[in-house]
Amino acid sequence: MSNVYNFNPGPSPIPAEVLTKAKANMFNYEQSGMAVMEMSHRSPLYEGIHFRAMDQLKDILQIPDEFDILFLQGGASLQFAMIALNFLSEQKKAGYVLTGSWSEKALKEASAIGETTIIASSKDNQYRHIPQTDLTNLPNDTAYVHLTSNNTIYGTQWSQFPDRSKIPVIIDMSSDILSRTIPWENIDMVYAGAQKNAGMSGVTLVIMRKTLLESANNTLPPSLSYKQHADKQSLYNTPPTGAIYITGLVTEWITQQGGIEEMARQAEKKAQMIYDVIDNSNRFYTGHAEPASRSLMNITFRLPNEELEKKFLTEAKEKGFIGLNGHRSVGGCRVSNYNAVPVEHVIVLKEFMEHFMEQNG
Ligand code: PMP
Repeated sequence: MSNVYNFNPGPSPIPAEVLTKAKANMFNYEQSGMAVMEMSHRSPLYEGIHFRAMDQLKDILQIPDEFDILFLQGGASLQFAMIALNFLSEQKKAGYVLTGSWSEKALKEASAIGETTIIASSKDNQYRHIPQTDLTNLPNDTAYVHLTSNNTIYGTQWSQFPDRSKIPVIIDMSSDILSRTIPWENIDMVYAGAQKNAGMSGVTLVIMRKTLLESANNTLPPSLSYKQHADKQSLYNTPPTGAIYITGLVTEWITQQGGIEEMARQAEKKAQMIYDVIDNSNRFYTGHAEPASRSLMNITFRLPNEELEKKFLTEAKEKGFIGLNGHRSVGGCRVSNYNAVPVEHVIVLKEFMEHFMEQNG
């Protein structure tokens, strides 16, 4: 395991300390004779895991009391539909800012449920930048606005979220949650699949302003109703207990590392190393994202031609690098730089990129 440098875009690395702790404790939890995934989700032992993970999330992300924290299933993709089911009524339109494939998918799912509108988009520019977006002047019939904080496939990220008016703002933070502080005053709901920065797949984190929850459609089947899940503290049905346990360990690890500010510092430092290689390469490596919109989590770039890209990826694989190929829809290369990627691995990658350029440039 120590010989691989895992840059997978998701699922992606989990901190080594978390895996070690899970190995020691997950299979005979606190000497109970039961693995975490063998316990009743209605037992005090499991409830300890469940509510501790929520409390730790609240603590590290400084989530105000006006928000509920939910642990749901179905991935971020089910949220695409649940958001519209819960908040898009017949007389209203849901507003989407298109910044990549995942926002397109969010829009598509919502469009199957009700009326949608595109507020801003950078599609014409191959999603190389985050578009200028004014949320202060939206029509009153806008049900909510949906943004994608970090665009995993194209490698762009909102460095700051826009100010807003009274229209609720909902943000997909699947690929940068826990890597940055969240300005809650400008946000009504955040959601994220856990499998990048928050643990393993199976649990989706949903953090929602209670006033938004109050406005939700109350005629839905209970299993699709945020209100139902919130009223039951995410124990309406069996939650993904093992995944929630791992999220608890990850949030504990983040606290031990120095909290979200430290995660943000590390992300910046590691990403800068790779962007420096790109910027100093005399266009041997060309970044996909415009510099002002660059992501600290997913760094996307191309080489001079596809042949060299193939060679780069083949040699990288031989050296133990995993997950450096771009998404199948866009090609090229991508370095996913999530919280659990050690700085040492980024240094090895930087040196490999420099060496490859020397040999092939
Ligand atoms: N949104 C973003 C930004 C993503 O990166 C992903 C997954 N890579 C998704 C949504 C979809 O997540 P899931 O597979 O958990 O449905």
